Amino acid sequence: MSRALLSHILHRPPLLLASRGGGRGGALPSRLRTLRLNCSVAEAAASGDEAPAPPARKKRVVSGVQPTGLVHLGNYLGAIKNWLSLQDLYETLFFIVDLHAITLPYEAPQLSKATRSTAAIYLACGIDSSKASIFVQSHVRAHVELMWLLSSSTPIGWLNRMIQFKEKSRKAGDENVGVALLTYPVLMASDILLYQSDLVPVGEDQTQHLELTREIAERVNNLYGGRKWKKMGGRGGSLFKVPEALIPPAGARVMSLTDGLSKMSKSAPSDQSRINLLDPKDVIMNKIKRCKTDSLPGLEFDNPERPECNNLLSIYQIITGKTKEEVVGECQNMNWGSFKTTLTDALIDHLQPIQIRYEEIMSDPGYLDDVLSEGAGKAAEIADITLNNVYQAMGFLRR
Ligand code: ATP
Ligand code: MG
Repeated sequence: MSRALLSHILHRPPLLLASRGGGRGGALPSRLRTLRLNCSVAEAAASGDEAPAPPARKKRVVSGVQPTGLVHLGNYLGAIKNWLSLQDLYETLFFIVDLHAITLPYEAPQLSKATRSTAAIYLACGIDSSKASIFVQSHVRAHVELMWLLSSSTPIGWLNRMIQFKEKSRKAGDENVGVALLTYPVLMASDILLYQSDLVPVGEDQTQHLELTREIAERVNNLYGGRKWKKMGGRGGSLFKVPEALIPPAGARVMSLTDGLSKMSKSAPSDQSRINLLDPKDVIMNKIKRCKTDSLPGLEFDNPERPECNNLLSIYQIITGKTKEEVVGECQNMNWGSFKTTLTDALIDHLQPIQIRYEEIMSDPGYLDDVLSEGAGKAAEIADITLNNVYQAMGFLRR
């Protein structure tokens, strides 16, 4: 396929736009001001303390997926699909966070393959390289450099408090886990602060890390910014923008097919627990056929006794773009057999165009290389300004 044709396919309007109401914010730390993900540009501009005049530049949003395995329906509905509307509203940088993928033991020969595949999935899902910068985290060296500079101002007590560190290190056997498991939230802070990001889409599991990012930003601004930076020959003022959270739409947490109380996850041992975006038709059919259900009559949302039922109806609702009421009307009297057929058909219909585009993109490696190289170039331009400012403010000899 010619590059021009491929480019036309990739740049056509995305099929799937996230525009659902509601949201959740109850679990957030009180200091973390938030925006609903489905807010309009006007709402976004009015949410800060600034005057109502439009900002000089669009607000900037960064986000990424780790290349730790196959991208699944949870990554798609909870993250990538929501990025489609963000790329129209904001200046967006979407990266493949490969440096984070080595935090726990991993297969080295798989890393670059998973990185390319994840990038191709971004494009196949409708992320548009003419709107968003798409790049690989390790291709912009400033991420690691800034992380080291930030580490010197991050008290170890702040990292020891991180719930994910406590949980994951306990699971992996405390003494044997790599230091990166403790320090990776500093890398995440670097990912965000390098780009002077205004907003960061976060799931509940990441709110503590975003709060840490804000604390690190404020601490470094106080330690080295303002007049102190001016005395070092700098501009003065803040070195970093302090970012805010962007809350994903309600219901975007997809649960495992084998346990409605655990989230669908790349790292879960059983492939049967998730629908991967690239699963062939027969695999999808088989996974839905065998997924966990219950023996109660009819189908319903929001019954805490029926987490699997809620999860499967929610997946159906999001991928069909129907309202909750429409899904209730259509499905409440169905038995599991007929609902599973309906859900399987909807999943296949939804994923097939993505899979076709994925194959087209993967068949033109030069195109993917170009997108990633252009994205890294644009990202590095922004990142290097921040990094150089921090080196200057911290007193390093200029090159
Ligand atoms: P791992 O098991 O390796 O941590 P993961 O499946 O949790 O992988 P990540 O790469 O950690 O995926 O997360 C990428 C993005 O997908 C994040 O924005 C995260 O919030 C979102 N995400 C991950 N799992 C789900 C899920 N089950 N439902 C909704 N969103 C999800
Ligand atoms: Mg995860």
